[in-house]
Amino acid sequence: MKFVVDEMFGNIMRWLRTLGYDTIYAQSLSLEKNDDSERDESDLIELCLNNHRILVTGDMTLIDSLESKFFKIMEETPEEYEKFGMAIPVEFGMITPCIFLRASKLMDGLKKIYQEFRINLLYDADNSRCSKCNSTIMKIKRKENYKDQIPEGVYNYQKEFWMCSNEECAQIYWKGRHIESIAEKLKNLRSI
Ligand SMILES: [Zn+2]
Repeated sequence: MKFVVDEMFGNIMRWLRTLGYDTIYAQSLSLEKNDDSERDESDLIELCLNNHRILVTGDMTLIDSLESKFFKIMEETPEEYEKFGMAIPVEFGMITPCIFLRASKLMDGLKKIYQEFRINLLYDADNSRCSKCNSTIMKIKRKENYKDQIPEGVYNYQKEFWMCSNEECAQIYWKGRHIESIAEKLKNLRSI
């Protein structure tokens, strides 16, 4: 399962990546194009349909306008969508691979996505992605080699560290208290 997340849900985007999901942030689409133009609908359609990504958005108008296009494209190649386990419009009126979120609260948003798509809510740092750039992260074998890049208190206290595999980003991660506390709450969401 892969996602593209509307720019109003930055925290949800970061946690989908942290949970290991390949997640594109809609804001980064316009940055890549290097201009200030508004989000381009055709880019979103391409990302969602051609790359089989689920769109997470709070923009009902966008969903309404995409919906007719989803139906049209998916009706033409239903087998392809079955293959990827996507929601397909077997009969008119069924869901499309969009999820509408009303509020941007992290737990409420992830709960809704979990209820719709049964995403994995168990945090595992080894399967996590970089919340900044969406690349995979790798465990650091010797923390000594990165001592100057890690805050001193964290370096002394934490044993395990991970690093973004994208050299240009190279963000370092550890299981801080903040991560642990959200991970614990996510675990509890699974009982719903
Ligand atoms: Zn990164």
